[in-house]
Amino acid sequence: MLHAHLEQSSAKPLPVVIIGNGPSGICLSYLLSGNIPYVRRNPVHPNPILQRKLEETPEVSILDQDIEYLSEGLEGRSSSPVALLFDALMRPDTDFGGTADSVLAWAHQPDRAIPHLVLGKNLPGGAWHSIEGSMFTLSQGDWMGLPDLQFKDWLSKKKRGFRNNRATAGDIVQYYQYYVAKKGLKKNFRCGTLVTSVKKLSVDVDSCYNSQNPQTNPQVDSGSLFQVDGFLTTVSGTQPFSVYAENVVLATGTYDSPSRLGVKGEHLPFVHHTLSALEEAVKNKEIGMMSDPILIVGAGLTAADAILFAHHCNIPVIHAFRRRVNDPALIFNQLPKTMYPEYHKVHQMMKEQAIPYPGPYECYVSLPEHHIVTFTEDRKCIFCDKSGRQKIHNISMAFVLIGSNPNLTYLPNNGVDLAVDCEQPVSSKRNPIDVDPFTYESVHEKGLYAMGPLAGDNFVRFVQGGALAVASSLLKKANPNPP
Ligand SMILES: Cc1cc2nc3c(=O)[nH]c(=O)nc-3n(C[C@H](O)[C@H](O)[C@H](O)COP(=O)(O)OP(=O)(O)OC[C@H]3O[C@@H](n4cnc5c(N)ncnc54)[C@H](O)[C@@H]3O)c2cc1C
Repeated sequence: MLHAHLEQSSAKPLPVVIIGNGPSGICLSYLLSGNIPYVRRNPVHPNPILQRKLEETPEVSILDQDIEYLSEGLEGRSSSPVALLFDALMRPDTDFGGTADSVLAWAHQPDRAIPHLVLGKNLPGGAWHSIEGSMFTLSQGDWMGLPDLQFKDWLSKKKRGFRNNRATAGDIVQYYQYYVAKKGLKKNFRCGTLVTSVKKLSVDVDSCYNSQNPQTNPQVDSGSLFQVDGFLTTVSGTQPFSVYAENVVLATGTYDSPSRLGVKGEHLPFVHHTLSALEEAVKNKEIGMMSDPILIVGAGLTAADAILFAHHCNIPVIHAFRRRVNDPALIFNQLPKTMYPEYHKVHQMMKEQAIPYPGPYECYVSLPEHHIVTFTEDRKCIFCDKSGRQKIHNISMAFVLIGSNPNLTYLPNNGVDLAVDCEQPVSSKRNPIDVDPFTYESVHEKGLYAMGPLAGDNFVRFVQGGALAVASSLLKKANPNPP
């Protein structure tokens, strides 16, 4: 039945369309499919205040309780109270190194399910599809799990385990696909759908958000609705689609548009902006141990992953970055050495192998406090150091790995009007979409929700609180007097 929504623009509006099929979209789909979290009988939570609150109305599901009250006063590694709440319910003592079981018990109540579609370009799993499968997570493996199916249980069934408590990206993406199948969510997912436009259709002429005359859609007779357009690619080709929804959840992450340096020659064909381009170039033997060095620009973890990969393949590397190696803001200076030995190794190379004092590492040169001036057509790169001196190096290829931005071209004005600062582009760290902290509904546009990095929650462990908030809000909208 739901398939019709993508094939016939005349279909009845859906209550909810989720755009993005990464961990955020998957977790929300689980909750909207009638999977309702209650507190276990006689729960023991290490936080005494939360414990007392959980004992007050154990017969009422968490989704139907006042989540603002429940999350009040919680502290932790996220600034979102609901993210801290859901995490504390699922992993009660994890920040103290404990492995206590979740205090939640899940009930399947099909009558409380809210029909929805999850649209996504690729297979379920989101950003994890574009991360090289052998890369280890930064987070503890346990924190990558979704509700009611522990990642470590799935892993041990596969007869695999963690390394230093961390998991590989390949395992994570397989677990997310397994989760969608195992939890019976597949029917809600439409993979191969690229959303190109989300428009508000509103009877409210004063609406500030791209209002259109509802007469353009004969199915809409009152109230406000969203029209979601895009392309669906299947084995039989690519078709445009249009679907109408009462609520739209933006869960498209922030990894789709790599940041650019904005320098001359950056468009040249040997200059790339993804780690996968490096893997591809090695696979296709475009570069090897005898080539001119590759240039890696950036000092984050993706740049470090690229250095490790090139090192593993004996490919010579020039590594340029703007910060000092001892800058406290550098991610390597914030990671414990014992848990992240490979990143510590890269940091050591960055420190010890800086020109003009080459150290013990062959095939690697570090250029701290340098920026790129130009790439030239004959595969040279001109750098500038902190005192303004310029130097030139031959390179075989360049990989600019300096972060990424969300691609919100499917929203009017690239979603800028929805951001905390409506004058600046949306960014997960600096300028997320402005949402109510307890519903994750846009403060600028009713019926529009945002979650995950788009709403400022950057780790899988915490994006799930956004799902709890959205599901709770949508269930309360569907039935203002819950059971
Ligand atoms: C290299 C790297 C390492 C990371 N390591 C960790 C870690 O160790 N621990 C951790 O917790 N987090 C980590 N993260 C962050 C983690 O990936 C995100 O927190 C998480 O994936 C966010 O989930 P999401 O579902 O909100 O978005 P995403 O996972 O980004 O999924 C969004 C999906 O929506 C799709 N999409 C975008 N636009 C459209 C459109 N117009 N139409 C259809 N589909 C669209 C995207 O292609 C994507 O597949 C890492 C991220 C990266 C890039």
